Amino acid sequence: MSLFDWTERDLGVPGHVLPVLRTPDPMLSGRSDPVDPADPKVVQLAADLVATMRASPGCVGLAASQVGVALQVFCVDVSGHVKARTAHGVFVLCNAEVLAASQVEKGREGCLSVPDLTGDVRRAARLSVAGVLPGRADQLTLQTDAFEARAVQHELDHCAGMLFLDRVAGAHAVYPRRRYL
Ligand SMILES: [Zn+2]
Repeated sequence: MSLFDWTERDLGVPGHVLPVLRTPDPMLSGRSDPVDPADPKVVQLAADLVATMRASPGCVGLAASQVGVALQVFCVDVSGHVKARTAHGVFVLCNAEVLAASQVEKGREGCLSVPDLTGDVRRAARLSVAGVLPGRADQLTLQTDAFEARAVQHELDHCAGMLFLDRVAGAHAVYPRRRYL
């Protein structure tokens, strides 16, 4: 199956909106563990992540650590975002790892767990990532660019216990956020 065709309906379970942790919650700075993507609990977690992302307008991604679960699962959806080029729609990846990254660019990021700030972060604009869809066993490769690549790298950082604030060049690259978008 292509990631372009996948939607949260493929999970087969409804998602519930969960509370999102905010910095400095220690959960956000811990490393997440690999999962068994076929575990029904992981499928439910995936549905909950998508529901929680959808509940926040402007949110383009959410990692399990942000809802207090230290597992390597995150969702992304950059559909319709002005900065996106390639957009696979909504997807959830388990145990994702970077295969290749190039063309580093600086861009502005925000995060539900850092509600009052945005920051300029250098990220690869071309990205290849391996991962597994929840409920599946086979590993797939996501090839993407621009804003979707940035969103995936931001979520991979959450899985490693990092926030965008850990990546900014300094206080001059952090800005107050007027609203979450
Ligand atoms: Zn975030």
